[in-house]
Amino acid sequence: MVVAVRQVQVEALPPDRLQALIGPERAERFRETTAAARASLGRRRVINVNSTARGGGVAELLESLLPYARGVGIDASWLVIDGGPEFFEITKRLHNRIYGVRGDAGSLGGAQRAAYEETLRSNRADLLDLIRPGDIVVLHDPQAAGLTDAARRAGAIVIWRCHIGRDAPNAYSDEGWDFLRPYVEDADAYVFSRAAFIPRWADRTRTATIPPSIDPFSAKNRALDPATTLAILQFAGLLAAAADPPALAVPRPDGSPVRLDRRADTLATGPAPPADAPLVVQVSRWDRTKDMPGVMHGFVEHLDGHREAHLALVGPAVDGVEDDPESGAVLDECLGFWGQLSPGARRRVHLACLPLDDPDQQATIVNALQRHAAVVTQKSLVEGFGLTVTEALWKQRPVVASRVGGIGDQIRDHEQGLLLDDPADLTAFGAAVRLLLDDHSLATRLAEAGHQRARAEFLPDRHLERYAALFATLAEP
Ligand code: UDP
Repeated sequence: MVVAVRQVQVEALPPDRLQALIGPERAERFRETTAAARASLGRRRVINVNSTARGGGVAELLESLLPYARGVGIDASWLVIDGGPEFFEITKRLHNRIYGVRGDAGSLGGAQRAAYEETLRSNRADLLDLIRPGDIVVLHDPQAAGLTDAARRAGAIVIWRCHIGRDAPNAYSDEGWDFLRPYVEDADAYVFSRAAFIPRWADRTRTATIPPSIDPFSAKNRALDPATTLAILQFAGLLAAAADPPALAVPRPDGSPVRLDRRADTLATGPAPPADAPLVVQVSRWDRTKDMPGVMHGFVEHLDGHREAHLALVGPAVDGVEDDPESGAVLDECLGFWGQLSPGARRRVHLACLPLDDPDQQATIVNALQRHAAVVTQKSLVEGFGLTVTEALWKQRPVVASRVGGIGDQIRDHEQGLLLDDPADLTAFGAAVRLLLDDHSLATRLAEAGHQRARAEFLPDRHLERYAALFATLAEP
């Protein structure tokens, strides 16, 4: 197998632009922290390694955070390892098992270990060419975990950052950890998104808890006025338009225009929702743990027809996410369920895939969808952190989400959104969405508090400060 480690280009962004959002005192603290981090890092570089440059939370997080790290003078970079279908099937299986779900029926035995190691061996030479003794190498998730030993031997300080986990271990998560533990156990440090994810065997003195963050100025999150939001969604084919919508150019985060020329693929699921209908939105990868079919059934069985609301389930084009081999099957399942709905329900439920070939365009469409949503849902069965929730909170949208994983760190029930104690309870899901559609003042209050929470905890300065505290324990000049 020919594999190649790719370098993702990371621009530097001036952190000063955060000041308007975080205020002068917090900005000053951030300047001091990053100056100290720069001094303690000296010539060390911070090299991140994951397995996809687009799609999903880890790519989103690296894309949002690393430009600010560069902007404060830290030499942060991003490498993407390669693998074949078998590797990604195994790592997807690991991903599911660490979450405590079975996923596919496959095993994680000697043959899988051999295939996993073989792929990482093929990436190793490229990787070792790119790292220097003293570098800090941050390996993300199970895909990159098996590079720990090689990077340490090359003289790097290795952090394994795990974005997934489960609060209470079960037999599946034990199986996942049995597979991974030998690869990561000797890492210099571990990072988990929440304390409850730290597995029993991990040495707590080497473990930090760091939640992710979003970039408020990215194409995904920057402010869009209502008219532009509407125009984007009409152009993308996600909202009905009276006439053929005109071509549209929206400024990219760097100010250059992004000319929208890609439409969402609405998968022959009928005419788009009317622009004035309340729209319930879930944007997620086509992954069973996101429970798109559950959202559909909950909506149809407990809300259908209520206030003429429509539902949009939107995910990436299924050939677009390199390390997510199950997405095609999950999308097909959703389409199958949609085909069985009554004609009235089919009219109000919409499925769509977004093309990933121009990341700014797809991010702009997601931004507009989240901003237009009357309610954003994230009815995940398990979740690492749930950046889609952070994104919705930042956009001041009312959220209904499951109390799983990091979602519970972002929302307290009835304070920043509504939480479902049992993600499989479709009645409770329907009631929560209905409440937010009906009670405008509650929806507004939760959304405002959600925005404040996202501002306080999940912007890049907080993220980098938490990293700086970890680096301080690892790297002396
Ligand atoms: N996302 C996207 N397009 C899609 C589906 C998801 O841009 O069609 C983004 C979403 O906006 C978020 C990330 O992918 O930024 C998903 O992160 P999250 O933590 O919610 O879940 P993960 O995919 O990591 O399980």
